[in-house]
Amino acid sequence: MVNGLSVDVEDWFQVGAFENTISREHWDGLELRVGDNVARILDLFDGAGVKATFFTLGWVAERNKAAMRAIVERGHELASHGYDHTRVFTFSPAEFAEDLAKARAILEDAGGQPITGYRAPSFSIDARNRWAHDILAEQGYVYSSSVAPVVHDHYGWREAPRFAFRPVEGSELVEIPVTTALLKGKRLAAGGGGFFRVLPYGFSRWAIGQVNREGRPAVFYFHPWEVDPDQPRVAGAPLRSRIRHYTNLSKMEGKLSRLLGDFAWGRMDEIAQGEKARSRVWSA
Ligand SMILES: [Zn+2]
Repeated sequence: MVNGLSVDVEDWFQVGAFENTISREHWDGLELRVGDNVARILDLFDGAGVKATFFTLGWVAERNKAAMRAIVERGHELASHGYDHTRVFTFSPAEFAEDLAKARAILEDAGGQPITGYRAPSFSIDARNRWAHDILAEQGYVYSSSVAPVVHDHYGWREAPRFAFRPVEGSELVEIPVTTALLKGKRLAAGGGGFFRVLPYGFSRWAIGQVNREGRPAVFYFHPWEVDPDQPRVAGAPLRSRIRHYTNLSKMEGKLSRLLGDFAWGRMDEIAQGEKARSRVWSA
């Protein structure tokens, strides 16, 4: 069973948890670290012999062209994470269409490959903005991995299916939600991010194993800043955000190595091909 491996490519100051502390107009004055961190991740992936998908912000691609070329040249998929990490449910449909097209043009120019996959910033497609899938279908995307079918303090669409579905009638677009595990009938977020860093590794191994025993691929994600223990500290951010952001950064690379060795991993566009045949139309 090959599982989907993904990296959400944004810099240390672009995370949702800091959005009220560092505004977008200050981004250009901050130290760029994402290019070096992507280089470390590419070496880690080469060492483990795995390919992955890099969901990248247009803003990052504009400023890190060498990293974008390296992602493609080393056999990985370059895909879209929007332009500047604005959550999709804050857009009007027209604004979302514009953001998608802008990011795609930058990414296709930087990587020299067609962009066919999308992940919404902070999994921000849910019951409020189902129209977002219609726009992804209109723009010809093959797949999206933008739904967290769980309740979380920052995101979540609790009614959505746990596994791949077709969100738009008459379209081939596949939505591949991030992984959840079931414990006593409750869904737990188990696809990466803070959960992977903060909880013991055994939890992730159990959760991904459970999903595979259900006969489905897991979808795992992490961020370049999570393998960067030396990143600048954002002092003014809320305590809860700081705890979540900075816990266990120095252990992350070792944990990732175990994860890459314990399961089989591949690019999200390949997972989408396999999931397409078995996914049905789902409308809430
Ligand atoms: Zn993100």
